[in-house]
Amino acid sequence: MIIVLKPNSSDAVVSHVLERIEALGFTPHLSRGVARTIIGVIGDEEKLQAEPLLAIEGVEQVVPIMKPYKLASREFHAADSIIEVKGIRIGGGHLAMIAGPCAIEGEAILNEIAEHVRDAGANILRGGAFKPRTSPYSFQGLGEDGLKMLKAAGERFGMPVVTEVMDPRQVELVNRYADIFQIGARNMQNFDLLKEVGKTRTPVLLKRGLAATVKDLLMSAEYIMAQGNLKVILCERGVKSFEDSTRNMLDLASVPNVKGLSHLPIIVDPSHATGRPDLIPALSRAAVAAGADGVHIEVHSCPEKALSDGPQALLPKAYALLMDDLRALAELMGKTIDVVEGVTV
Ligand code: PEP
Ligand code: MN
Repeated sequence: MIIVLKPNSSDAVVSHVLERIEALGFTPHLSRGVARTIIGVIGDEEKLQAEPLLAIEGVEQVVPIMKPYKLASREFHAADSIIEVKGIRIGGGHLAMIAGPCAIEGEAILNEIAEHVRDAGANILRGGAFKPRTSPYSFQGLGEDGLKMLKAAGERFGMPVVTEVMDPRQVELVNRYADIFQIGARNMQNFDLLKEVGKTRTPVLLKRGLAATVKDLLMSAEYIMAQGNLKVILCERGVKSFEDSTRNMLDLASVPNVKGLSHLPIIVDPSHATGRPDLIPALSRAAVAAGADGVHIEVHSCPEKALSDGPQALLPKAYALLMDDLRALAELMGKTIDVVEGVTV
């Protein structure tokens, strides 16, 4: 940790800061320039908090050297983590192709969509049973009935399933049906929820918050991992911005950025990032080209009848065409897309 003192700090201020650091049990290393004084502090940064140091008069800035996230960092694990769910690998050169409706709306329509996306090459089925809707009057999801339908569809079509959990009290219930928990953007910093899924050993798809930085995202991953669950898959789904022609602003830079900082897989969700089916194919290709470990796409066979996010749903035919592109791109990049059993694409 490096402590920068305010310009032209007096000897008394410098001595006071040095005393405080020593009182905290650390060894300060003083470097006095003409106008600036800098103090290096060596020690366990986990025990040395920046805030009490910032409160000392004369201290201008405290710069941690180690990253605040540890288990999620590349330093902790140099190789890319590969997360395996029912034979489907995610990360380290293996792409997750997650697709399905925004919400589980009924058995027949879910099975229809699941079959389409599986035949197109999707290897993980998505669908929400608990929906975080902006309006309390909008469809809130089918709850446990929906979870049962999702699990059955997953078994029927041989795909692991991912579904959102919104509340720590639902973790036990959702865990009975889901192969992967989804933590939605609105809950990325629901720390009690993160701790609760961290206590399980079920993989977690952690979506970036609407106004969260990459560091915030990694800190949330750290919450899950600190409880012992290291199976975290990050998801870039766009952030709020001034641009209003798309639902959110897709931050594709976060993909190679996260790759440098963390060993965790990161996938991209162009559906929620743009809200526009006409933009989803181009951004999916761009995501894979940027090094994403997969894409997460909402597909519906009849978007006009969808109970949630219909306008952004891709039609099954468009999804199949996109998957052809993504397979070609994956091959070009030396990556693989695991295929669910019994499907030849
Ligand atoms: C979803 O996946 O349906 C969803 C609500 O996504 P997000 O949390 O990214 O808005
Ligand atoms: Mn949705």
